[in-house]
Amino acid sequence: MTMVVTLQDIEAARRRIAGHVLRTPLMPSHALSRCAGAAVYVKLENRQRTGSFKLRGATNALLCLDEKARSCGLVTASTGNHGRAVGQAAKTMGARATVCLSALVPANKVEAIRSLGADIRIVGHSQDDAMREVERLVREEGMRFIPPFDDAGVIAGQGTLGLEVFDDLPEVASVLVPLSGGGLAAGVAAAVKARQPAAKIIGVSMERGAAMAASLAAGRPVDVQEMETLADSLGGGIGLDNRLTFPMCRALLDEVILLSEEEIAAGIRHAAKVEGETVEGAGAVGIAALLSGKARPVGPTVIVVSGGNIDPAVHRTIIDDPNVEAAP
Ligand SMILES: *Cc1c(COP(=O)(O)O)cnc(C)c1O
Repeated sequence: MTMVVTLQDIEAARRRIAGHVLRTPLMPSHALSRCAGAAVYVKLENRQRTGSFKLRGATNALLCLDEKARSCGLVTASTGNHGRAVGQAAKTMGARATVCLSALVPANKVEAIRSLGADIRIVGHSQDDAMREVERLVREEGMRFIPPFDDAGVIAGQGTLGLEVFDDLPEVASVLVPLSGGGLAAGVAAAVKARQPAAKIIGVSMERGAAMAASLAAGRPVDVQEMETLADSLGGGIGLDNRLTFPMCRALLDEVILLSEEEIAAGIRHAAKVEGETVEGAGAVGIAALLSGKARPVGPTVIVVSGGNIDPAVHRTIIDDPNVEAAP
């Protein structure tokens, strides 16, 4: 297939968002390297502004709009981090943002979005419910929709993370990347494989409601039931009318790994106790895939630690009790 988002698009995004986002560190992990029998590095997007990589895609998408489009007001649906990123980017650019969230979104994420001055709407119990409110606001109030993943500007923005990985580790052989709607995986895979075609890109999701994994297995976008999971940022469908991330993930991902709640909890715990990083469930799945033995990467390996916005009380419970009932 011809890639819809090219290396040139991702390089243009990097120039566009420079100054708005941090270039996050790529750190060697001795413990994970020992565990894998290969050199393992963690790309720390939990230290990104707003606490996740989502600021990259949201900032690029907003900067691709002209002033007039931005002045209509921006609207999105989110499991939390994309909404916060849109809220931050809109605030920086002096635009108004409305974020539609389902009741599954954790309170800490709702508060963080509210504190950026965004207008919050809590609707229903799934991403689909939140999306229906977005469609209404676009139709009735003329707002501009900033999609959470299935958008060329968003994918190119997330891909800037892949450019940084290659610049820091040109010999990268495997990348473990959290997988939900696939904007992150598609962007990172497009960037890394353009520079290092032999690199393997491995998507990691939770067993509870992995829509992209089910869609890749079915050969077309399918619905899965959304469930509560420690990896709350990985919840939600990929859209039955998915245009970009499904074909890109199908073409570019070499493997998809699914994890239990206990395995994800172990990843969060390792990140805190051994790596000294506060990481949310979705951000810990790459570490968890390696610790569980389900990922067997070869050669220099990068784990994308995608975010750190975990509810502090949940974090404490997981760290304190290794036998904690993991599903919230
Ligand atoms: C959104 C998100 C993901 C998944 O990104 P997609 O582009 O939807 O696949 C992973 N980790 C965190 C922390 C996120 O916020």
